[in-house]
Parts: sequence; C-alpha cells; structure tokens
Amino acid sequence: MIFETVIGLEVHLQLRTNTKIFCGCANQFGESPNTRTCPVCLGLPGSLPVFNAKALEYALKTGLALNCEINPQFKFDRKNYFYPDLTKAYQISQFDQPVCRQGELIIPGDGGAAKKIRINRAHLEEDAGKLIHDDARNCSLADYNRAGTPLLEIVTEPDLRSSQEAYEYLRILKLTLSYLDVSDCDMEKGSLRCDANVSIRAPGDAKLGTKTELKNMNSFKAVKAAIDYEVNRQRAVILGGQRVVQETRLWDENKAMTFSMRSKEEAHDYRYFPEPDLPLVTVPEEVVEEMRQTLPELPQAKMERFTQTYGISVYDAGVLAQDRLTAGFFEQCAALYPEAKKICNWLNGDVLKEMNERKITVAASTLQPEDLVDLIRKIEEGAVSQLKAKDVLKIMLDSGKNCSAIIAEQGWGQVSNDEELLKIAQQALADNPATVAQIREGKLSAIGFLVGQAMQKSGGKANPKKIKELIEKNLQAGADGKPF
Ligand code: ADP
Ligand code: MG
Ligand code: ZN
Repeated sequence: MIFETVIGLEVHLQLRTNTKIFCGCANQFGESPNTRTCPVCLGLPGSLPVFNAKALEYALKTGLALNCEINPQFKFDRKNYFYPDLTKAYQISQFDQPVCRQGELIIPGDGGAAKKIRINRAHLEEDAGKLIHDDARNCSLADYNRAGTPLLEIVTEPDLRSSQEAYEYLRILKLTLSYLDVSDCDMEKGSLRCDANVSIRAPGDAKLGTKTELKNMNSFKAVKAAIDYEVNRQRAVILGGQRVVQETRLWDENKAMTFSMRSKEEAHDYRYFPEPDLPLVTVPEEVVEEMRQTLPELPQAKMERFTQTYGISVYDAGVLAQDRLTAGFFEQCAALYPEAKKICNWLNGDVLKEMNERKITVAASTLQPEDLVDLIRKIEEGAVSQLKAKDVLKIMLDSGKNCSAIIAEQGWGQVSNDEELLKIAQQALADNPATVAQIREGKLSAIGFLVGQAMQKSGGKANPKKIKELIEKNLQAGADGKPF
C-alpha cells in the first residue's frame, strides 16, 4: 500500500545579537556557567524585561527574506510550564500575534522543479537555560547563560512531501539566513534546531494523518534519517491495523531510531497569557520598507545575475553562491580580469579545495582578488604551467607571498626557451623507441604519452603546448629520415 508523507518543520534560530532578548547580559557561549546572568534572565522577583531592538531588526530581516507579512503590531505571551532550566516557570513567547506570518521559501522539489513551501509564522521568544546531567555525582547542574537568548521560531505549513524536501528546505533556509548574517546557524552548537512533524496518509486523502513530532536531531542528515525512520515506523503501525499516536519522539543517533518521549494528545496545554510586563510593539510601515530596501541580494537572485552577467553555468553560479563572501570575491576578480569562467574554475576548484583543507573561507584567508588574477595571468603568459600554478597557490596561501616571488624562488618558471625544450623533446624520443615505432605505424594517440614523459623530465616546467609541437615536428623529420 502506498502512503503519502506529510512534513512540517519548526526551526528555532538563535539570533546573533550582542545582548539577550530582554536584558543587557552578553549573548555569549562557552563562558563559565552562570557568569552571563542577571535578575531578569534568572527570573528573580521584581525584575522587568526590556525588549532588545536588535532582535526585532533581525526578526524583520528574516521575515522579509522569507516573504512574510510583518505584523504592524504584536505582543508577547507567557507560555507556562515548569522545568528547572526555566526559573520563571514560563517562557516569554508569542502566541496569536507573531512578528511575521504567511511567508514562503522556494526549494528544489522532488520532481526537480522549484516548489513553494509556505511559512505559517515566525515568532520571537527567549531560550531557556541548560541542564548538564552529571552522572558521576548523580545530579543535574543548571547553567543559565543561555536563558534569554533571542530565538526566532520559523514554522512551515505541512507542505513538505519527503525527507529529501525537508533536507532541501533546511539547506536553502540556512543559505538564506547566512546571507542575512542574523545567526551562525550551527546545528552542532544548537544555534539552529529543527523539530520535524511527520504524518502519512493515503494519497488523495484530504485529511492529514496523525502526526508525531521528532526532536533531538543535530544535523540536517539526522533530520532526514529521523524522518525516513519515522515514516517507515508509521507505515508499519498502520499496516499492522493500529493507529499512530500523537506524541513527541526523540531521535537516537547511535541506534538510528526514534523513541517516544511524551504523549501529546492534549496539544494546547501551555495556557498562554498575554505578557503584562512588556508593552505592545508597533512596527511602522516606513521601518519595514527601509528594512526591505537594505536587504542584501539573496542567493537565488545572485545566482541568476551571475549566470546572466558573467556567462557562467547555473551549476557554477550555485557553487559560488553557497558563500556570500566567496561570491563577492569572485565579483572583485571579475572586475580585474575579463574571463569570468577561468576565475570561477579556480575558485570552485583548487581554491575551494585548499580552503576546505585549511577549514577556512576565501574571505577569511590571506588571498586577495589581485593575487588570484595575477596567477591566472601568469599561466596565460606562459610564465608558469597550469600544473605548477596549483603549487604556487598553496605557497601563496601559506606564506602570503605574491606569485612572481614564489615562481622565482622555487625556480618554477615555465621553460619556454626553444633550445631547452628541443633538448627535452628529443630526449623523450630517444628514451622511448618502442613508442616512437608505434606512432610511426599509425598509433597517433601514443604522442600524448611522449608529451607526458617530456613534461615529467622537465619537472612539470615545460610549456606543454610547445613540447607537443616539437615532438610532432621531430617525429616527422625522423632522425633516421623516415616520415611518420
Ligand atoms: P502543535 O500545536 O502540535 O505545535 P501546529 O499546528 O502548531 O502543531 O503545527 C506545528 C508544525 O506541525 C507545523 O510545521 C505544521 O505544518 C506541522 N503539522 C501540523 N499538522 C501536521 C500533520 N498532520 N502532519 C505533518 N505535519 C503537521
Ligand atoms: Mg509545536
Ligand atoms: Zn540577564
């Protein structure tokens, strides 16, 4: 029996503000426990929250990038529940008036075509503290440094139809967010967290099936695996004649399974109340418009412009657009040198490879656009071979020296001197009489082998085009006078 998978994602994004959402404490990680706290984020009696304007700015930016409507006026609500990481026993969140609503994100859908995923809402809330379970002492320790970190929760409609679409949604969302620079979006550090709501139904069924909510995935891959597992589990439940129970389930990465955490038959048990300590927030139309004007060019628009302006392929443009700063670096190079395709080949090829090995980005490296263009020009002029240029790049990155200096120091100047090249070519013929004989019998493809031999002899320094010409010429002349 065939089922249709239905998925809705809830993404919690920690916003990269300097201070917390309702107090002046530093919004910082990795500090010693409870050193970034004050009466407000510890929830002490008599303390009053003040809304951080930067958190609003980041929420608006994100909402606009996701094509959301911005609520002209919104409020905060208390979501009541007790947990030791939440000293007030309520979390300040937004219930019926989220800052952003009704947006969309375009992703590559399963059929290959672009697919619109509707965003139901994006609302602001505060993060809770963190409990550290100390097994050795059989106790739990509470660190409230994270309490009050601004979160934006972005909730989709149940529009995703497979684990792959969920993966693509997260990938495009993260890429878009990275352009806005509102969060570091690191799932391993918990600055981007995703809950997946999953159900299945008979195709064509208008009613949604009963969903389970999956938590505790700490990579996009884990989200995909958890959804796949869950779809199969639900299928087995239904085929076994039973009903799927609405509940929250935790993904166990090691066992690669989901486990029931708590039943959630009563969906709305939080008893939201309007937050009396914070005023209504008004967002004037002009502020929204101004924000819209200052949004950076987003990945999709950049890719389209790159293919049109620079004549590079959609694939190449896509790779460049994966990192906003690399895309900027490309444009700086393209302003200095006319052949954008060559720049792109270097950036998406050897430069990217070297950066990955060094675990940095082009922008964070010492490489300047002038350096890369310089190197490309040196190859074009025949001053260094394509092969040796790769090594020049490595040294350039490690030492910060310019490419002329490196080529001279290493003695990697390409040999273009005719006399020297002739010697190398003739030596290759003399060393490989069997190959020469094959070529004379008509196996012209073996010329490549001789060129390779000659290049090796020269330590990669010979100009390969000239070597090939010389080898062909000498074969024709034939030391023994025979034509080839
Ligand atoms: P809850 O009150 O349990 O948090 P919501 O209605 O707020 O549920 O929806 C939370 C998320 O679950 C949204 O992303 C929504 O699209 C998704 N969702 C809702 N119903 C289903 C369903 N039957 N199957 C899959 N996803 C669903
Ligand atoms: Mg929910
Ligand atoms: Zn504080």
